[in-house]
Amino acid sequence: MDNLFSDRIKKTKPSFIREILKVTANPDFISFAGGLPQPALFPYDDIARAAEALFAEQDRSILQYSTTEGSPVLRQYIANRYKKQFNIDVDPSNIIITTGSQQALDLLGKVFINTGDKIVMEDPGYLGAIQAFSMYEPEIRGVPFKDNRLDLAVLENVCKGAKFFYSVPTYQNPTGFVIDDAQKQDIAAIIKNSGTYIVEDDPYGNLTFEGTHDSNYYALIPDNTILLGSFSKIVAPSLRIGWIAAPTPVIQAIAVAKQAADLHSSYLSQALLVKYLQNNDLDAHIRTISQHYKNQRDILMAALQSSETLKAIKFNTPAGGMFLWAEMPHGQSSKDFLEYAFAENVIFVPGEVFAIEADASNTLRINFSYLNEAQIREGVARLERAYKNLLKVT
Ligand code: PMP
Repeated sequence: MDNLFSDRIKKTKPSFIREILKVTANPDFISFAGGLPQPALFPYDDIARAAEALFAEQDRSILQYSTTEGSPVLRQYIANRYKKQFNIDVDPSNIIITTGSQQALDLLGKVFINTGDKIVMEDPGYLGAIQAFSMYEPEIRGVPFKDNRLDLAVLENVCKGAKFFYSVPTYQNPTGFVIDDAQKQDIAAIIKNSGTYIVEDDPYGNLTFEGTHDSNYYALIPDNTILLGSFSKIVAPSLRIGWIAAPTPVIQAIAVAKQAADLHSSYLSQALLVKYLQNNDLDAHIRTISQHYKNQRDILMAALQSSETLKAIKFNTPAGGMFLWAEMPHGQSSKDFLEYAFAENVIFVPGEVFAIEADASNTLRINFSYLNEAQIREGVARLERAYKNLLKVT
């Protein structure tokens, strides 16, 4: 009966990461593969208190159907944060709450992509976006990084006639790279000249270890900018609360697509989040998480860089976020490395799964947010053994 399935589902591959995570439910495994926040850092007690306060109000509308655009209080909160953080004026009516920013990607696909349309992404790029967009059968063109910077000559070339350029400019998934202000200016000019949209997805920007993160495409080209945000990495992913901020015609189209998809995102989740945000200092919480992830990164980098065995591998130091990108010498395969890593009960994600057009066969992504210090050290020791075994046979 599989022949009854649509071409779109037949062509879209299951996420390699979800598949690999299933295998590693086994607690003996050390996983650098996922992209999960550290559960010890969830504001568990604060959310529990917010839930108590919320239900004590006896407002039964929290269990009722609600508007597609989402809680007005939450949209105002997001607009205020844009003002405070980036000094940009986004009207709350230009913000729509989504079921995680993952849903935002799906809705953008629905609204923009006809079969065969061209869209552009960083190469390597976020796997969940590749998957979400692929459902609408676009031609995806990749813009490679050269010396950790986006190759703007390629961008200019491929943006012509494209529906949008999807970018994670700050602590990118999978590389951890940052597109700096100077490059942003050049990219904004390219986007404007090609008459297309930039989709700026920014779930990690608040997790800053050094430097600042206060620039935003909206300040440069507001009419061409679609911003995506999420509370998953700064509060809790299970709430499934993200958002799209975009020019009015885009928001109107997104609202129609969202009505058809799920009517609205969980209003209970939104009400709970609003209560949590009203009763707590989110910035203080973000500082705590960022400090913790910075420590994790430092422990990981120190362990990797002090290893004689691993010294042929280039480890890029991320200035924030959750991921570290590594490049093995050309000719070595991270998929082969993963096989030896599996045998040592440690895993990571081979870069190939994030690749669009570029050859990423010698690269890998390492997550450092989820493991504790002892696991990171033991994980690196296992990687060393696996790499030694790989070198023995190649
Ligand atoms: N965009 C990027 C770049 C991500 O890394 C993720 C989560 N890994 C998402 C979007 C989706 O996150 P959520 O749906 O939880 O907001």
